[in-house]
Amino acid sequence: MTAREKLYEGKAKIVFAGDHPEELVLHFKDDTSAFDGEKMEQLAHKGEINNAFNAFIMEYLQREGVPTHYLRRMGPRESAVRRLDMIPVECVIRNRAAGSLSRRLGIEEGQILEPPVQELFLKNDALHDPMINHSHIRCFGWATDVEVDAMERWTRRINQLLVRLFSAAGLILVDFKLEFGRQGGELFLGDEFSPDGCRLWDARSLEKMDKDRFRRGLGGVVDAYLEVARRIGVPLD
Ligand code: ADP
Ligand code: UDP
Repeated sequence: MTAREKLYEGKAKIVFAGDHPEELVLHFKDDTSAFDGEKMEQLAHKGEINNAFNAFIMEYLQREGVPTHYLRRMGPRESAVRRLDMIPVECVIRNRAAGSLSRRLGIEEGQILEPPVQELFLKNDALHDPMINHSHIRCFGWATDVEVDAMERWTRRINQLLVRLFSAAGLILVDFKLEFGRQGGELFLGDEFSPDGCRLWDARSLEKMDKDRFRRGLGGVVDAYLEVARRIGVPLD
């Protein structure tokens, strides 16, 4: 097999050309970053776990009717996806207060947010992913109003589906971030869903089981990801 052409290397993944022009291969690295890349470490096996985790979640969402870019597993750390024209907007939804919402609004961590709060951020590390609103997106042409409406609706639907999945496994889905992109005039969920991009707490002890363990130097990051994967039934070889 000839070596794949590397198109982009990000903080957590490498993007390679796929077997067809309309496909890409995502390679999940062990690299773990926080604070827009200021804190960076390698955590053994994280890439394999996140690839398996993401495949499981994407397949679940697809079965439930969510259009996702996910196509198939290619290897322990690789998955084939549709090549998307990514929209540079991060869609966040929050069921409980934590992280930047708690800091920005002075809301105690853990407060239940009903209905869930939705926020939009510009995907731009150099600017520290600033919060934006519909009028910024419209003015600067990052997405159409129709796309923003669809991204926000899909984010709410995905939240319903994932709250159901995680709560059945004794986990609280606190918040998460999604990215979307377009191919052939259609919108697809892109990027990844893994404990790197969401907050998950044990429902009884409220112990953190996600990347906050890394951000806060709590240790046991990969063990927590493995425990979440085991509880929801991700097949790990
Ligand atoms: P970052 O760019 O934030 O450091 P990653 O290391 O996860 O993040 O890199 C993956 C990159 O691939 C991201 O920029 C993401 O927007 C992009 N991406 C994810 N899915 C697709 C896709 N289906 N098509 C094109 N680009 C994608
Ligand atoms: N998130 C992410 N990538 C980002 C920013 C946020 O995956 O670039 C996720 C983060 O893991 C959390 C949610 O989005 O699950 C909300 O993050 P928040 O705004 O609270 O930012 P933080 O304090 O985590 O930087």
